[in-house]
Amino acid sequence: MNAKPRGRQFFMNPGPTNIPDRVLRAMDRPVLDFMSEEFLAIQHACHAGVKRLLKTDAHLFFYSSTGHGSWEASLANLFSPGDKVLIVESGYFSVSWTEMAQHMGLVVETLPADWRQGADMARLRERLAADKAHEFKAVLTVHNETATGMVLPLTEVRRALDETRHPALLLADTISSLGSMDFRMDAWGVDVAVGGSQKGLMLPTGVGFTGVSDKAMEIARTAKLPKHYWNWHLMTARKPQRFIGTAPVHMFFGLQESLRLIEEEGLDAVFARHARLGEATRAAVRAWGADGTGPQLLCLNADRYSNSVTAIQMPAGQSSDPLRKVAIDRYNLSLGGGLGPLMGKAFRIGHLGDLNEPMLLGALATVELAMKTASVPFAPGGVDAAIASLAV
Ligand SMILES: *Cc1c(COP(=O)(O)O)cnc(C)c1O
Repeated sequence: MNAKPRGRQFFMNPGPTNIPDRVLRAMDRPVLDFMSEEFLAIQHACHAGVKRLLKTDAHLFFYSSTGHGSWEASLANLFSPGDKVLIVESGYFSVSWTEMAQHMGLVVETLPADWRQGADMARLRERLAADKAHEFKAVLTVHNETATGMVLPLTEVRRALDETRHPALLLADTISSLGSMDFRMDAWGVDVAVGGSQKGLMLPTGVGFTGVSDKAMEIARTAKLPKHYWNWHLMTARKPQRFIGTAPVHMFFGLQESLRLIEEEGLDAVFARHARLGEATRAAVRAWGADGTGPQLLCLNADRYSNSVTAIQMPAGQSSDPLRKVAIDRYNLSLGGGLGPLMGKAFRIGHLGDLNEPMLLGALATVELAMKTASVPFAPGGVDAAIASLAV
């Protein structure tokens, strides 16, 4: 009993994600002096490449951090104690960013949203219109809510700000959308884009970054929250390094290679692949739940489906914990759990990053196998539905 499962682990979490062999190989090299010409050229290429991904000509700052660090960087640079911000609720990650902002001394108002339908853009517009004194210094958004598998239409958030002539900054967490789904920092008027390394960028966890507009850089000059490591103006002054402390050179070796992979495939082809794999996953889930007793897509709003992660609601009275345990212990398939109030009530399939059709089909078939083993009721035909969706 409890023999270690053989074969490659199927890693289907929505973060971290599979690290391509080419990225691992690129990191398997001796250390470089982080002030050397050779390293500065690599770092420069990474800056340029991530700016192309973000679709921005503005500023970019890297940190040795998780995505939480990038969140903190954006708040510490832009705000003063007591500043008021509006956060658009999306799920567990919007709630976590809210807690961070409160702990840092900001006054946060939440635009409430149903986790299965997503935020109502008309309500956002009304709330901004009612803020005649322009008390909100910023609107905080999560572009792709990794906990619910739902995307937020940032163009509509921008439009709500523009139509109400509200001067608030627009912050967008793009941690689980960048490199998987379309994101356009400059065209969408995003002032700060928050990113991390271990999702669409297919790297180990440990590098965070923020794209920053000129407007946000100006505001950062007078913002009073304490900061040092995250300080954008201090970083700008540290030319040519633009990094405070020792740059994590191996992460940049990996990042340069992951940017090459994305650009060889072509960004639009990368998005199209994620759209295909996302739709195939949803087709499987719809089939499993077709008779009304099986699992269901958590997201009920077809305009908001995420192409990088699908959250799946368990049938009533069933916990996702035994299912996930069977999947990993017996079949070596790692699935995401439900987060926050969805803990035990949902599981998540990440379909972002270094992934193709056979990997997804293997995972979907194994989810069926695990559901059978764990006695989770489901209707047959999920894998067939995924194949039919992919074969067009
Ligand atoms: C993963 C994730 C985060 C947190 O990133 P960490 O690197 O775990 O700190 C934040 N927001 C979203 C949308 C995420 O998917």
